[in-house]
Amino acid sequence: MTNSKQQPQQSKKQDYQVYTVEVCPACNFKSKRPFEIGDFVFKTNGECSHCKNAKTKIEMIYAESTKQQS
Ligand SMILES: [Zn+2]
Repeated sequence: MTNSKQQPQQSKKQDYQVYTVEVCPACNFKSKRPFEIGDFVFKTNGECSHCKNAKTKIEMIYAESTKQQS
C-alpha cells in the first residue's frame, strides 16, 4: 500500500469569507464587500460611490480566512 502523498485536509467547516473587490475605472477607487450571488470578475456594477462618474467593475473575487489569529 502506497498512499504516501495524500493529505486529507478536507474539513467540513468553511472558515473563510468570500469578498468581491470593485474598482472604478475613472478614479481608481477600490471597494471591498462581501461576495454576492451573481458576482463575477469584470462584471459592471453600480455607480462609483466615490466620483459618481463611472460604473465600477469587479476586479477580483477572493476568499479570506475568518479564523481569528492570536
Ligand atoms: Zn470613481
